[in-house]
Amino acid sequence: MYSDVLLYIDGVWQPGRGKPIPILNPANEDTIGTVACADQDDLNRALNAAARGFAEWCRISAFERSKLMRRAADLLRGRQEDVARLMTLEQGKPLTESRAETAAAADIIDWFAEEARRTYGRVIPARSVNVQQLVVKEPVGPIAAFTPWNFPINQAVRKISAALAAGCSVILKAPEETPAAPAALVRAYADAGLPAGVLNLVYGNPAEISGHLIPHATIRKISFTGSTAVGKHLASLAGLHMKRVTMELGGHAPALVLPDADIEKTAKVLAMSKFRNAGQICVAPTRFIVHEDVHDEFIGRLAAAAEAINVGDGLADGTTMGPLANARRVHAMEDLIQDAVSKGARVVTGGRRIGNKGYFFEPTVLSAVPREARAMNEEPFGPLALVVPYGSLSEAIAEANRLNYGLAAYGFTRSAEHAATLAASIESGMVSINHYGLALPEVPFGGIKDSGYGSEGGTEAMEAYLNTKFVSCAN
Ligand code: NAD
Repeated sequence: MYSDVLLYIDGVWQPGRGKPIPILNPANEDTIGTVACADQDDLNRALNAAARGFAEWCRISAFERSKLMRRAADLLRGRQEDVARLMTLEQGKPLTESRAETAAAADIIDWFAEEARRTYGRVIPARSVNVQQLVVKEPVGPIAAFTPWNFPINQAVRKISAALAAGCSVILKAPEETPAAPAALVRAYADAGLPAGVLNLVYGNPAEISGHLIPHATIRKISFTGSTAVGKHLASLAGLHMKRVTMELGGHAPALVLPDADIEKTAKVLAMSKFRNAGQICVAPTRFIVHEDVHDEFIGRLAAAAEAINVGDGLADGTTMGPLANARRVHAMEDLIQDAVSKGARVVTGGRRIGNKGYFFEPTVLSAVPREARAMNEEPFGPLALVVPYGSLSEAIAEANRLNYGLAAYGFTRSAEHAATLAASIESGMVSINHYGLALPEVPFGGIKDSGYGSEGGTEAMEAYLNTKFVSCAN
């Protein structure tokens, strides 16, 4: 069922001129197919196509763009089961999560299809009666989007859909390790009738592709999701060429558990958000900062929830956590845990790779993790929960704000006053209190500090793909 994945340039699915790259199933390390690899000629054809595609697409009314996008959403919904299987085969997550990701992507397309029709400008009262002052919104132009492997469709659909809704054309560089699911997303748009050149899909050497596309005069805007290190590199390249940028980068989310929280419910919510997608989520809670009065009870409940997780092949019935997506993550987990333990952390549960075929890893809870442990400072991006006790609320908030990351943060308390304090004092693009309330199509999604800038949800996401033009007209 998994076929080789092609490039999509100027409305045609085609092989690349580079050497195809093998794709592994992370559950058994078998090669399941290949993905085409673009060379510079392929990229230049994509750039020419995107320039032509933009000229056509930006002249199509928002009303028509919206209708076409809704068709793409319906096609994707209708293909949910097939797309979900491809995603699980190449990425590892349980089929239920792949289905949910595909369904959510269709909802995101619908949201942006609606927003396409609401790219309002405004009228500014003039100082003379014969002058009209208008603010109008225009698409920025062809964009280059770079997306990672953890949510193969969802990272791409936000960028593509906001850009298309605004009237931009797109070159998407999707992840080489999980290429079939984003290709299915592009296919839904193509089958919905998107004109040739409006949406192009390439894979290959990430550094070569970004190095070619970002400086190119055709590209007017860059959007990247991935690690902070790569994001800083791409943002500086974009800055050199005066390109607008959205950066959705790494996180190290603090989860503050106050003594007045409902500990049973808190542990349940946090275990779910920690171990979903095997922890490979930029907004996953990572530092569990727990009041000393409820620390032991919380650890017991979190460890029990971790131990109840059924780790296995994402295609198998009953699996609640799949393998890690690649061997790099297994090595990262082993290194971070070994480092933390050598510095005094205690393994409450988990801590080891499962078997030696497939990238399975135990859901892991560490307690008494010292601040100097690498895991307390670097994004683990895996099934690793780090629990540390605190005494005063100011101490907990200081720990939450200690790192340069600022993507997501969580707080658990029954006190409205404490909830307001947390919301106001935590330095983070998103704060969710007493539940996991992030990443819906209609709410902003993005970070501050080293976690990046710009938003990938809500009306703010449209702004990223629009220029503001001021028109003053005297008559
Ligand atoms: P990585 O840092 O090399 O790559 C991260 C992503 O950036 C990948 O999709 C990769 O293809 C892309 N990339 C790398 N170099 C690039 C370049 N020069 N130009 C364009 N794209 C480039 O490492 P990785 O092993 O794939 O992931 C490791 C870390 O990345 C994780 O630990 C996590 O911190 C971060 N990450 C974050 C997200 C997120 O949702 N924010 C997603 C995936 C990975």
